[in-house]
Amino acid sequence: MSGIYIHIPFCRRKCLYCAFYSVALLSKKQDYIDALYAEIEGTLDFLPSRHIDTVYLGGGTPTLLSIQELENILTKLRRHYILAPDYECTIEANPEQLNKTYLKDLLSIGINRISIGVQSFNDETLWFLGRKHNAEEAEAAVHLAAAAGFDNISIDLIYGISQRQAGEWEADLHKACSLPIQHLSCYALTNEENSLLWRKIHQHQLPDMDEELANKEFHTLLQIARQNGFEQYEISNFAREGMLSRHNSAYWSGEPYLGLGPSAHSFDGHTRKWNVSNLMQYIDDVATGNFSGDSETLSLNDRYNEYVMLGLRTAKGINLTQITELFGEEYRKHAEEQMPKINPNHYQRNGDTVSLTDEGKFFADGIAETLFN
Ligand code: SF4
Repeated sequence: MSGIYIHIPFCRRKCLYCAFYSVALLSKKQDYIDALYAEIEGTLDFLPSRHIDTVYLGGGTPTLLSIQELENILTKLRRHYILAPDYECTIEANPEQLNKTYLKDLLSIGINRISIGVQSFNDETLWFLGRKHNAEEAEAAVHLAAAAGFDNISIDLIYGISQRQAGEWEADLHKACSLPIQHLSCYALTNEENSLLWRKIHQHQLPDMDEELANKEFHTLLQIARQNGFEQYEISNFAREGMLSRHNSAYWSGEPYLGLGPSAHSFDGHTRKWNVSNLMQYIDDVATGNFSGDSETLSLNDRYNEYVMLGLRTAKGINLTQITELFGEEYRKHAEEQMPKINPNHYQRNGDTVSLTDEGKFFADGIAETLFN
């Protein structure tokens, strides 16, 4: 299973919490697209096969591209790759940019999954987060997508916001579950380095993150999502039956993927490489054939650590027999030796499978570190 990620690096302005690479340089759209075409042609041998199961158009704000521009990019991909008959093609979208015609046109060019950046259904919170849409537009966007024919709709929500009124997170979740969505991604507000939030916290204009609130709201999320038929298949991701994100699931399983566009990461199973996080430098890199991004070849140890880190975030967890097969008996021995150091309420063992309990999920990263070699 292989997937292609395309980073579309344009946003009209920066949201409070965002550390993804994006610029407002919309005048450079065509230069970016030309560079992307060249990168597609220059990376054809990166993946083990030209058969592709998933395409993910992320950003940035992919919906700042016109239908014609998006169609041209997908046509270019199809010219060089064979898309599986049941391929999944996701686009990230901001609510204020969606209308009936645009949504129908997305479907007509082969985009069959949409991930809408709702973040909250409260106007004050949306303003605080620096989003450009309001709650009414967020809700309308989901209904418009469903009416246009999308039957694979995901929305993003943010929790752990201490500036919010009591009860607002519950209200957001109930609203989300009442909408015609099949997938829900919920992230704790995080103090990402170099985000606007990070600068404001450093300058004491905003308080630091409230971990206790985030943990409490995470448990509210588990409860309300389950009551409404959403299964948690990864720490931050919930889906109705059979509607999980295939692109992201492949990533969490360590499958190879090709990332195109500035700041995009690629992984061939052994080596990870990433493009420079600078649009003009990226365009120049592609034109000159100089690669000013970076890469790392993962050692056996790195791959074991990554397997543990990604696996523990998923409902499937990690498997000790698989650890022996992939990394050798000594890694299994190491994992078994480390396990007693984990709070017994934080994980469960079923035969050779180890996964996190609800109580442990919020501490997934720390638990993974305990098992690292
Ligand atoms: S959160 Fe999304 S829309 Fe906001 S700045 Fe980041 S990439 Fe752009």
